[in-house]
Amino acid sequence: MNFKSFSFADSILSALEKMGYESLTPVQKMAIPHVRRGHDVLASAQTGTGKTAAFALPIIQKLLDSNANGESIRAVILAPTRELVDQIDHNIKQFTAFNNLKSVAIFGGVEHDKQINRVNKGCDILVATPGRLIEHLRKGNFALNNACHVVLDEADRMLDMGFRSDIETILEQCDKNKQTLLFSATYPSAVKQFATKALKNPKIVQVSRDNETASTITHVAYPVSNDRKLELLSELICRKGWKQVLVFVNMKEDVQLIVDELTQYGVTVGVMHGDKSQGNRRRALREFKEGKTTILVGTEVAARGLDIAGLPRVINFDLPYLAEDYVHRIGRTGRAGQKGFAISLVSREEEHVLAQIEDLIQDKVKRIYYPGFEVSNRDGLIKKIGKKTSLQKRIRSNRATQYGAEAKMQNRQKIRKAFKK
Ligand code: AMP
Repeated sequence: MNFKSFSFADSILSALEKMGYESLTPVQKMAIPHVRRGHDVLASAQTGTGKTAAFALPIIQKLLDSNANGESIRAVILAPTRELVDQIDHNIKQFTAFNNLKSVAIFGGVEHDKQINRVNKGCDILVATPGRLIEHLRKGNFALNNACHVVLDEADRMLDMGFRSDIETILEQCDKNKQTLLFSATYPSAVKQFATKALKNPKIVQVSRDNETASTITHVAYPVSNDRKLELLSELICRKGWKQVLVFVNMKEDVQLIVDELTQYGVTVGVMHGDKSQGNRRRALREFKEGKTTILVGTEVAARGLDIAGLPRVINFDLPYLAEDYVHRIGRTGRAGQKGFAISLVSREEEHVLAQIEDLIQDKVKRIYYPGFEVSNRDGLIKKIGKKTSLQKRIRSNRATQYGAEAKMQNRQKIRKAFKK
């Protein structure tokens, strides 16, 4: 089975040929027929599985079949962050390079008037963050009554970010008989409840990141005290000459510390965090992809969902607060069967998160003790932590209650399964 089996228009097939898409990924194989038949779809798939083409190609074909001509918005794609919106819009522009369909990206940080002009010049497919789109709708800038296709991408993250009522309002303003496609990496009860309300008899598509991708990632941890992380980071990057490294930090305040440290050794560094303007974030990503900068330092919020071809290394300067977020972070590497390294700098205080991560991915993270950075009494401490399992369990269960016990357990089971395969 290949893209020709779906009888896509020649303009789509030519675009796919130009992009080098030959065979279908599992989510494309499973979702495209349902979307082409007009069903609602509930799909579990992460970024990196080829889900953008899975929802965009059949929608583009439907718009071509109905002679869409840019006069009104016919499809709305919602995604949680500016970067994802930009990425999806970029993909759609590639898919529609050989026909007249037009897509416009809408997100915060850009003047409203500019976005209104772009849409008024012709827009068949609107790709937007819910927050900015709702601002436009409140002002009556756009009408969505002809939007017959709606995609909710990374629905779990959008709901987490508190966009539920915005999304509901947006859905209400679209065509009553619309087709709705919901893509989510995880299925907490909030997503389930939402999907039950928003989707009509959905077809279920379930795809985890393929085994090949997961098994190509090597997980390692460097034990180090908190106050020496910066030193160890520059030691690793400079001495080992690592290039194309995405570094995650928990707090944007730490981004500048890392930039200052690395630039003094002549390393070129780009940054991405929530306080940077959209233009700056875009430029940082472009320069990193083009190899003009060798390191990109970002907070999770800014860097989640990014598609960076052939990224060999992700470094967690800090471990994320939630073990699940580790899986999202390291998903930036080891894509499409390429080898990748997920490297974490782990302080004593973070040891319990590392244990949760190992528990979640059902794999041991290899410790590398870098000479000169050993943490004294570390083994004793780990043993001590091991003995405190009942206390740990209590802490974990409190956390689980805080975030929704059921949702967390199901999420964990799913991620475990994906890693086991
Ligand atoms: P996505 O999950 O949509 O972000 O896609 C991840 C990466 O895989 C992107 O760089 C896509 O361009 C690429 N990709 C998606 N589908 C295919 C395919 N069928 N053949 C080759 N590359 C693909």
